[in-house]
Amino acid sequence: MDRSLTGMTTTAARTAGVATHCPYCALQCGMVLHDAAPTAGDARAQRERGAGVTAERGVSVQPRSTPTSPGGGLCQKGWTAGELLNPSRRLTTPLARAHRGAPLEPVSWDYALDRITAELRRVQVEHGRDAVAILGGGGLTNEKAYALGKFARVALRTREIDYNGRFCMSSAAAGQNKAFGLDRGLPFPLTDLATADTVFLAGSNLAETMPPVMRLLTEQRAAGGSLIVADPRRTATAREATLHLQLTPGTDLALALGLFHIVITESLVDTAYIAARTTGFDEVRRVAAQYWPERVERITGVDIAAQRKAARLLARADRALILTARGAEQQAKGTDTVLALINLALALGLPGREGSGFGAITGQGNGQGGREHGQKADQLPGYRMITDPAARAHVAAVWGIDPSELPGPGRSAYELLDALGTPDGAKALLVFGTNIAVSAPRAGHVQRRLDALDFLAVADVVLSETAERADVVLPVAQWAEEEGTMTNLEGRVIRRRRALTPPDGVRTDLQVLAGLAERLGHGARFSAEPRAVFDELARASAGGVADYAGMTYERLDSAQGLCWPCPAPDHPGTPRLFADRFATPDGRARFHAVEHRPVAEDIDGAYPLYLTTGRVLQHYQSGAQTRRVPALNDAVPDAFIELHPDLADRIGVEPGDPVRIVSRRGEAIGAARFTETLRSDTIFMPFHFAGAGRANLLTNPALDPTSRMPEFKICAVRIEAAISVEEVA
Ligand code: SF4
Repeated sequence: MDRSLTGMTTTAARTAGVATHCPYCALQCGMVLHDAAPTAGDARAQRERGAGVTAERGVSVQPRSTPTSPGGGLCQKGWTAGELLNPSRRLTTPLARAHRGAPLEPVSWDYALDRITAELRRVQVEHGRDAVAILGGGGLTNEKAYALGKFARVALRTREIDYNGRFCMSSAAAGQNKAFGLDRGLPFPLTDLATADTVFLAGSNLAETMPPVMRLLTEQRAAGGSLIVADPRRTATAREATLHLQLTPGTDLALALGLFHIVITESLVDTAYIAARTTGFDEVRRVAAQYWPERVERITGVDIAAQRKAARLLARADRALILTARGAEQQAKGTDTVLALINLALALGLPGREGSGFGAITGQGNGQGGREHGQKADQLPGYRMITDPAARAHVAAVWGIDPSELPGPGRSAYELLDALGTPDGAKALLVFGTNIAVSAPRAGHVQRRLDALDFLAVADVVLSETAERADVVLPVAQWAEEEGTMTNLEGRVIRRRRALTPPDGVRTDLQVLAGLAERLGHGARFSAEPRAVFDELARASAGGVADYAGMTYERLDSAQGLCWPCPAPDHPGTPRLFADRFATPDGRARFHAVEHRPVAEDIDGAYPLYLTTGRVLQHYQSGAQTRRVPALNDAVPDAFIELHPDLADRIGVEPGDPVRIVSRRGEAIGAARFTETLRSDTIFMPFHFAGAGRANLLTNPALDPTSRMPEFKICAVRIEAAISVEEVA
């Protein structure tokens, strides 16, 4: 065995040729990291892809083939991922400010951890246990997510913990749990995309968010397959589609109900499947009868012929996939939209059929594992519910505490943030790996709530916009410097491997949590060793929905990862779910009767345009990392605003002019970009930028009643030209 490529080495010394995965999105493309200077060929390949020179630490990146990146493939973010390892681009010492208003200054680790401990103790004594809150991230490894949830419930005994995945996958998770009894982004291998006759993408721009996946879709269309994309924008993905349904923002639910109506009226449903494998069809059929094509055309703007074509392409395919992403999910009715699309999939008999199905495309690197192991407000490890007495008893036994010591469910992420510093909310907040000052909806308000805290501590790789506001900042190790596991978009648990020693002055998140737990009197319960934490996580998950009990680092190392559930050491894992039964008590999937409703904030005379937000290829999430990578930042350095030329004409702006967008929550500024393919009532702004270019200064925190997902994707705005140069600066 080529030891260098298995990444088995865990010593502090630098190692060469370590096989690991990209630090960014849930595709988790495979890569090999070399700590030697890149070869001439590698360097040329990196330059051609816009990668910078990683001279300080000499890391070079090579793609490698994995189940989600077959043949090897990386986007520009992956090629340049080594840049952030350079000490000059990151934090390498703890920082603290003597008092509010004082600057952040370097301090020792002992000072930083002692100060955090003292502040947390003081706040809990003065205001109660729930006055301390924790916010985690969907980029944390499974081990960190697990340790963070345990730290909240055992060391702090606070109910107030949630994570930024609430802003990402919560509606998809809620919908799949309701319909299938289980939430795993893709319940089938990603490579099924290449062999599907029809793929329907609802609110997904894979060409910019996960470019390597486009190879599978190119293969699919080359074999005669059809690609349908539902998106208000004519995105790079929509341009590749057989059929682009350019719907009005916020009407995905009506479109799904309309397609359901057509498959019923044209007798395209799979009646045998519905009878054998589902419940609740009749009620959904009754509701869908109200969504005839003419009405759906009026609501969505998608013409009747296109609706019929989409329904028929899906219904007549032997192998059809319906996939959702944030465009359809980040709405105050996101859960119902997911349920309506699942209804459509069930009516066509897709879930559980080989090569067909319904799935949600996970965004963040560990968005899947991050919601399975206890950093979500209502969950315990193994995707157990914290309100379930049996789940509490099981997890409490693993943690060596009495079940009565476990707190109950806490607030969802936005509700937690909205209450910070209020009489009813937390007074101290610990943040691990999320940049909420940029990524939360109504970000100006969230920033004010952060400033109202008694105490804020942030553990991060870089001095993010959230870390800049903290009282104490902890510099933590990153992807290529740590061992651990991630769970990718198809539920495959994979190994993250250490290729480099962290710089002096940097500790891992697990070391931070163990250090704090020690000071809080719970040191014996918290290990800083990833393997020990994973083994405990596997025990805690045993018997749960997301069962990792049969997984070990050795098993993950010897295979290309394992898909959960994997309940025993000799279990092969479960790449395909639902072949025989769904995870509901009776084994049947559930139809849910849902109705369309308007967006939470519709356009009017004062705010006559829809704003929708999204990503660009070069940046990731809040941009805290990618804005520090020269090749990525040089390509897209600033916020921009896409608008139709007719609209630009009306307000008198030229391409590149600074324009101001105003919503009921705030203002943001970006340079005008014209596109004829955008609806003239809609503008688009990417959400990766800080300062005046923060799109989330505008967005609406109206929450989905089930998932508590904010309505990131649509709000009402107006646009203004002729702002001053000072404002742009
Ligand atoms: Fe990394 Fe995602 Fe790009 Fe793959 S697609 S290289 S995982 S950011």
